[in-house]
Amino acid sequence: MKPPRDKTDQEWRQQLTDEQYRVTREKGTERAFTGVYWDNKDDGVYRCICCGAELFSSDTKFDSGSGWPSFFQPLKPENVGETEDTSHFMRRVEVHCNQCGAHLGHVFPDGPKPTGLRYCINSASLNLDKK
Ligand SMILES: [Zn+2]
Repeated sequence: MKPPRDKTDQEWRQQLTDEQYRVTREKGTERAFTGVYWDNKDDGVYRCICCGAELFSSDTKFDSGSGWPSFFQPLKPENVGETEDTSHFMRRVEVHCNQCGAHLGHVFPDGPKPTGLRYCINSASLNLDKK
């Protein structure tokens, strides 16, 4: 099996739903309050929908009122990469899966303690591995 980073667009299209593909591979954003996880309170590990990398724990999920799943820190920092995003005439920090490059969402500096960060993530990028 080849590493997920080397998969072609066609292979991703076969593996993912249209919405998952649009969000993770084309840096889309699902509409607020439409995803499956924004209001989910189950315990477990949120993995990358594309490659299964461990991204966030339910222990760090909080209700931001934004309509997207929100976390104050990654489960494994080495799995979550950040790049500056200046699209849509805004300066934001885009976050992605370091293992396969999947777009996850953005991180904002208005989160709760202890980190003060808010990782605003699309449900379509995540797969909850329930405890
Ligand atoms: Zn991934």
